Amino acid sequence: MAHYDAIIVGAGPAGASLALRLARAGRTCLLADGAHFPRDKVCGEGIMPAGVRVLEELGLRAALSEHGEPFCGIRYRLPDGTRAEADFPNGATGLGVWRRALDERLVRAASREPNIDLRLGSWVRDLRLAADGAPAEVSVGGERVRAPVLVGADGGRSAVRRAAGLAPPLPRDGRFGVGAHFRHAPFAEGRTRVEVFVHADHEIYTTPVAPDLTCVALLVRRRHLDAFRGRLEEELRARLRAAGERCGVLADSLRVGPVRALGPLGLQPARAHADGLLLVGDAAGALDPITGEGLSLALVTSGIAAEVLVDAYAAGDFSARKLSHWTRRRAKEVRALAGLTRVVLSLSERPRLAARAVRNLARSPRTFERLLGVAAGMNPIGSLGLRDGLGLLLGV
Ligand SMILES: Cc1cc2nc3c(=O)[nH]c(=O)nc-3n(C[C@H](O)[C@H](O)[C@H](O)COP(=O)(O)OP(=O)(O)OC[C@H]3O[C@@H](n4cnc5c(N)ncnc54)[C@H](O)[C@@H]3O)c2cc1C
Repeated sequence: MAHYDAIIVGAGPAGASLALRLARAGRTCLLADGAHFPRDKVCGEGIMPAGVRVLEELGLRAALSEHGEPFCGIRYRLPDGTRAEADFPNGATGLGVWRRALDERLVRAASREPNIDLRLGSWVRDLRLAADGAPAEVSVGGERVRAPVLVGADGGRSAVRRAAGLAPPLPRDGRFGVGAHFRHAPFAEGRTRVEVFVHADHEIYTTPVAPDLTCVALLVRRRHLDAFRGRLEEELRARLRAAGERCGVLADSLRVGPVRALGPLGLQPARAHADGLLLVGDAAGALDPITGEGLSLALVTSGIAAEVLVDAYAAGDFSARKLSHWTRRRAKEVRALAGLTRVVLSLSERPRLAARAVRNLARSPRTFERLLGVAAGMNPIGSLGLRDGLGLLLGV
């Protein structure tokens, strides 16, 4: 039976980046994904500057620059035409990149690492979790394989998480995402920004991933989903048309690839470890995509996961107690963004307050810029002061 230092289930950004880091630290990994790449994934496709930095560290920036579209900040728009926009501090840029390209590039980098045994089109099944000092064991492509550590990098509805008894309860009125890509004549905008159209019962994110290709992600509560049943594309186009401006152009543009829906989003397990088990990326806990952080967090925190595992290998200790460092250190890293996401999400639940906040941000661009600095992973949440709270809520 083949034996590895780690079995990583899922070769999305979390699993592939962790495999790259472990392999480069001298550890052998089986990295398996049920999908064949390139594959589509419902996502807003905007990577925050902190995530872009990780791609650079992993040696992928050059490969992605031919596919990605840098963006300098965010623009919020209201149905009444109000707009608030700000750029990331210090000229930093995020990257809009089609997940087909991003994930395929990460997987391709993994395929070049001698320490990674990459299996695509291979669903991992029949999990036996590590227990009483015995390693974890799984089936992949009909073969049984073993490792002292099993890593669940299998996304927001993680089967590894479920097998470990860590699946959180499903919310009754969770949020869902609808995603698609549209081809169009290049927009005549000086600087590229991700644009967020804030409506009373949904938000629409548009992220240019090439001068003539835009990713659209619409976020909506389950109670508003009925209109989308059986007519995803028509309803998406209708909402784009109603939003107007850039969205209006996209409503009449050629769709490229599928229109897909995904949810419920933002599921958070109580912990991201157990004996011989780590959960990473969305499996470890997804933030609502309203602040567009998931990719960046997956990439940044896989560095912490790698450090915790390297330490566990050195000690030969894969107990839940040892691996609990991961849950603790991850929680610390995520805390600020989780807080910001909660504030933005709770504003979005109160349309009049949300509209007032966008108007206030339009009047207080410095506050908006400081908030973006936190969202971008560039500034700690402590960099926000009372003035920023007043700026957001009262526009003073
Ligand atoms: C509507 C929407 C908009 C978003 N917008 C943004 C945004 O603008 N910016 C941003 O940073 N983030 C955004 N996100 C979040 C982002 O998409 C996720 O955080 C990110 O995909 C998490 O990566 P991951 O590697 O953890 O999981 P995934 O990308 O979901 O990858 C999981 C992989 O596991 C594989 N898998 C699952 N089960 C098995 C199995 N049993 N065996 C083998 N393989 C398996 C799957 O095939 C998949 O390839 C958005 C999400 C949604 C839904």
